[in-house]
Amino acid sequence: MFRYLLFTAVIGLGCGLGGFSPTPVSAQRTSASGPPVRLRVGVAGAPPFVIYGDQDADPINGISLDVWRDIAISQGWESQYIPQKSVSEALKAVADGELDMLVGSISITPERVKLPDISFTQPYFGSSVGVMVLEEDSTLWQRVAPFFGITALSSAGVLTLLLFIVGNLVWLAERRQNPEQFDPSYSEGLQNGMWFALVTLTTVGYGDRSPKTKMGQLIASIWMIVALLSFSSITAGLASAFTAAISESAAQPTVQTPRDLKGKSVAVVTDTTAVSWADFYQADIRLASTLSAAMALLKQQQVDAVMFDRPVLVYYANQHPDQKLKVTEIRIALEPYGFVLPVDSPLEKRINVQLLNLVYSKKMALFIERWLGNSFTQANRR
Ligand code: GLU
Repeated sequence: MFRYLLFTAVIGLGCGLGGFSPTPVSAQRTSASGPPVRLRVGVAGAPPFVIYGDQDADPINGISLDVWRDIAISQGWESQYIPQKSVSEALKAVADGELDMLVGSISITPERVKLPDISFTQPYFGSSVGVMVLEEDSTLWQRVAPFFGITALSSAGVLTLLLFIVGNLVWLAERRQNPEQFDPSYSEGLQNGMWFALVTLTTVGYGDRSPKTKMGQLIASIWMIVALLSFSSITAGLASAFTAAISESAAQPTVQTPRDLKGKSVAVVTDTTAVSWADFYQADIRLASTLSAAMALLKQQQVDAVMFDRPVLVYYANQHPDQKLKVTEIRIALEPYGFVLPVDSPLEKRINVQLLNLVYSKKMALFIERWLGNSFTQANRR
């Protein structure tokens, strides 16, 4: 109920403000009732939030651009997109009055919010810093180890014990009346009995030895039924234990928790938020100028991991399925993304209302799904 009221209030506010004529950004380029406002919109960030086309004429796309276009259309604004080299340079351009607006995967951090000449919008996406490693091929021992695990060894032990018991029983029943097939001496006879039990268990049934006495046949019959029932469940149990052990051994990345980063060489992109996290977890930092440079270091095995915005890493791994890249489950901190405006921009309030309208509607989920796919579910969001 409260959510509904809040939602209605937000929508109502949005409609109310939308009814006003566009607010001027600067006296030269806009007028209150005249032609639509043309904004200088800086773009910074990484795919899938900001995706540049292959050619100059291609439009810029991505989640951030979907969000911005939706807002701009609702307000009747036109955009002149100005790609920026990096987030830090883009923030400077806003502060210097070169941009009316900055869109992209820009993390809202205390240090940035503190800057006097810029202002962040409300957040539109909850991101986090993630860690990417190379998927390791499991070693020969890792593949073979499950066969020597507790499950395999205990199953083999139980089976041997059963063969021993049945071997004894059959020998005891048969040794007098069937000495050709079950030797009266214990050592020979037990071997014959266990062999018979094994041949029966596996339903191979050579028929080289078979019980002749009533008691021997009764023991054999019970053993057949017990074997039939237990053998299949032992096989199934072993198979699932092996599968679990094999998949676990193959999926063990060298970095599994943030603490594992200590002392590892980690590539991070200069001036991104990941730098301070790599420092916090005492990684051996290798600075790269771009994300692709950081990825190159990882692929050449010059570093153990790359730290960057997790959704960006997930997108990169999806785009390069052949490169054996693995995004770990690590999600360091909550890092909200927002857009940036010059401080006291008259657009701020209207953008915030539209942005929150979007976040509270299903549209935002559609934008995310469009670029990150269905698999990037609620659980995987950040
Ligand atoms: N979200 C990060 C930041 O704001 C990385 C942005 C980027 O360079 O793509 O620092």
